[in-house]
Order: sequence, then structure tokens, then C-alpha cells
Amino acid sequence: MKKAGQPGSAGSSMAGPWDVVLRDEAALRQAAVVAVDAALLEGVLMRTEAEPNASEVVSYAPFTLLPSAVPRALFEQAYAVQRDFNLLVDAISRDKGFLERTLASTIKVDDFTARLFRIHQQVLEEGLAQSVFLGINRSDYMFDCGAASPPALKQIEINTIAASFGGLASRTAAVHGRVLRVLGKPEEAARLLPNDPAQGLAMGIAKAWELYGSPSAVVMFLVEKAQRNIFDQRCVENKLWDRNIRVIRRRFQDVYEQGSLDDSRRLYVDGQEVAVVYYREGYVPSNYDQQNWEARLLLERSRAVKCPDIATQLAGTKKVQQELSRPGMLEKLLPGHAEAVKRIRATFAGLYSLDMGEEGDRIAATAIASPERFVLKPQREGGGNNLYGEELKQVLEKIKDSPERTSYILMDKIEPQPAVNYLLRAHSPLKASKCISELGIFGVYVRQGTELVLNEAAGHLLRTKAVEHADGGVAAGVAVLDTPYLV
Ligand code: ADP
Ligand code: MG
Repeated sequence: MKKAGQPGSAGSSMAGPWDVVLRDEAALRQAAVVAVDAALLEGVLMRTEAEPNASEVVSYAPFTLLPSAVPRALFEQAYAVQRDFNLLVDAISRDKGFLERTLASTIKVDDFTARLFRIHQQVLEEGLAQSVFLGINRSDYMFDCGAASPPALKQIEINTIAASFGGLASRTAAVHGRVLRVLGKPEEAARLLPNDPAQGLAMGIAKAWELYGSPSAVVMFLVEKAQRNIFDQRCVENKLWDRNIRVIRRRFQDVYEQGSLDDSRRLYVDGQEVAVVYYREGYVPSNYDQQNWEARLLLERSRAVKCPDIATQLAGTKKVQQELSRPGMLEKLLPGHAEAVKRIRATFAGLYSLDMGEEGDRIAATAIASPERFVLKPQREGGGNNLYGEELKQVLEKIKDSPERTSYILMDKIEPQPAVNYLLRAHSPLKASKCISELGIFGVYVRQGTELVLNEAAGHLLRTKAVEHADGGVAAGVAVLDTPYLV
């Protein structure tokens, strides 16, 4: 049997459900016009780069013209492992010793992680006031065709803070359904799966709000200065209003100026008690100045449910991801969950520590010799930070003998099979691109004290980008929203 990725194999798409459609460029152009209007009607919206804080003139969030083929078995595998990942993230966030040991080398050289870690330690020393915990994460995967045939589900990372696009992802299937009907594919349109992560995220926030137990308290979305992606957030916000839960949107600066704790460390902002803080900011160094750090500390010390709390944010670092892949580590973190451990481990790609010592020396040398096999990752979020190929080699050669290397991890490069699609982006000409996709599954859980009272997979997000971009998400202007078409 021929492997899908071998030269000479038929077409360049994985299963090629749109091979015929893709031959009719005139029809595709017409469908693209309908698609953009459908996206605007469905609310697949983003503010413009020029005016990120005004809704007078908005545009559509970039998206693919056609839904992308996703192997059904891998899609189901990703859903099946999500509740395990929720358990795991929660377990890590409660394991002070694990976080301490795992991040020890990283925080010596990475200032940002070190500052987060200091806040973590500080709140533990004082004693947690928070007793209800809410996790919203998104585990991201690619379908690796490199070594394996058939393709294998491999985790790229898990995002434990500000995992975005759950709102807009709830609206893309309707757009792609319209496109397929316009292109004469009504049966395929009917097969697109319903998907409503916004509902699942709101359900988790509502549950945490309820358990906090103060009916007059609000949910605070902590938001960035430039709010291009506000509509994605509004999808979740509106579902909270539908439940008569009040939502306010604030910046760190507002918390610094107007936030306070009472004697039992209840959080008040502008005189309103806050039950849940939902961070859509605070995940990159540029989100912080000294005052913002102070605001973050105030929030973390409070009784309010933080989504995520600082320990859960640390659980999402790349360094933690790498340590999890060590033999025996998952077993230690999830005792008595042998099946969950198996499901989780099956999604791991090769991950390697660059800590000082022989193990790190060896993998650094291997990566310098074969850079095309690896990705070099710093402890950063938000896309555009990883190093590949020649750049990876140069950087690693420079830092290979210095402790600076421990701020990075190495990961096997995943090789998905490209498929042809059209990426629709405002002011961009329509042209066919060879694309690869990344599937994200949203997870939501709530813990009260030591008891997990909610643990769910809450929907999915498919993002697709042209193969020439090694890195970068939707917000970074590289990937676009997509809908899985199961094959
Ligand atoms: P970030 O926190 O910046 O989102 P990621 O680990 O998700 O960091 O990497 C960003 C992007 O880089 C991913 O969306 C994916 O496109 C690409 N990428 C990351 N890791 C790999 C890998 N191991 N193989 C191939 N591509 C990868
Ligand atoms: Mg990512």
C-alpha cells in the first residue's frame, strides 16, 4: 500500500473530498462571495487592525472557503482524551512539588515564567482563599503523516489560559454549510457537525459563578488593550447574560486602580463583587508592566474563581509539556488512571529537555545535525515564537553551551499531509494554497475543594494555514478558521 505522503500518490489532499469542486475556479469565486457574506451574517467577525477598539466598521475573521478533511478516527480520539487532559491539568495545578521541580531550570533563565512562579509561591504561602476552580483549556493537535501510516493524532500543545476562538468556532459550520450547498454539495453540507464551544465555556463559567455563591457578584472578563477579537468573547459573554449572570470587561489597569480585597479576600472592582475572573489576557510578557503585575497578584490572592488560577497557567507551559513525556511521569500525576494515562500518552510527540547535562547535550547535537526534524520552543504563547530549520540550528549553535538553552524545549516536527484550499482574508486576492490544519478540543472543568464537579469536552476548533508558514495562529494573521469535514 502506498503512503499518503509519497510522491506520486493521487492528488495532494488527504482524502480529497473536494477534488472535483476544486477544478471549477469560476464556481469557487462565486462561492467565495457568498461565503464572506454568510460569515458576516453568522457573526464570524473581527474588528479591524486599524481600529481594534471600535465596532463601527468590522470585518470577517479569516476562514477557509472549504471545510478541511479530518480523519474521523483521529477526531474521535481527540474528543475521547479531552477529559483525561482536564484531569491532568488539574492534577498538575495542585502539585506544588511537581511545578517547582519541573520549572526550576526554566525560571533561572526565563524572567516571565519566573514572575508567574513567584506569584504562585506567594499565594500558596499566604494560603489560598479560592476554593472553587475553573479550567478552560484547548488541546491542539496535528495529524502526523511523517513516520506513521495511517496518520496519527499528535498534540502540539495545551493552552490553559485565554484559549480563544471558541465563540467564532461555534459559527463557522453554518458558513461552510452554505458554501457546500452553493457548490452543489448539499449532502456533504448536512454532514458537517454541530459545534458550540461558546455554550460549553459559558456553562463552565456559570457553574463556577454559582458555586462561588454570591448572586449579586459579577463575572469579569480581563481583556487586552487591543480588542480585535471581542466578538469571539462576546459569544461567551452573551450566553452568560442569557442566564442572568452579569459580565463586566476590565483591563489590568482598571484592577490596579479600582480593585480591592475585603477582610475575607473577596474581590471588588468598581464596588462590584467579582465571582469569576476570566483571563483573555496575561499570557505574554507584553501584557504586563509593574502595575499589571501588582493587579495580577491582587487577583490571585483573592477568593474569586480565576480562570485559570496561576498554577493552572503554569501547568500549560511548554516546559511542563516536555516533562510530562518522561517515562512514569503521567503515572505519578494520575495514579489509578491507567487508561487515561494510555490515551494521553498516545497523543505525545517526541519532546526533549535542553536542561544542562548529558541528555541535553546529546539532543542539542542531534537537532543541530538534523534541524528539519525538530521545533525549538521557548516558554511563550500566542504564535510566532518557535524556531525551525536553519534558524533553529543557528540559535542552538549559539546557546548550546549556555544555561540559556534551558528556556527552550525541543519537539519532533509534525508532518501533516497538505490539502488544497482557499484562505479568505479581507483585502487578499483569492488563490489556491497548499494548507495544513490544526484541531483544537476545548475542555472545561470545575473543582470545588477537592471534588471535580464538572469535567467535559466542550467543542472543537479547526485552524488552517498555508504550508509556507511554519508557525502562527489566527490572531497572528497566519492561520484561519475552518470546519472539520470527517472522512
Ligand atoms: P503557541 O503557544 O505560540 O501557540 P505552539 O506550540 O502552538 O505555540 O506552536 C505554534 C504553531 O507552530 C502551531 O500552531 C503549529 O502550527 C506550529 N508547531 C508547533 N509545534 C509544532 C510541531 N511539533 N510540529 C509542527 N508544527 C508545530
Ligand atoms: Mg498554539
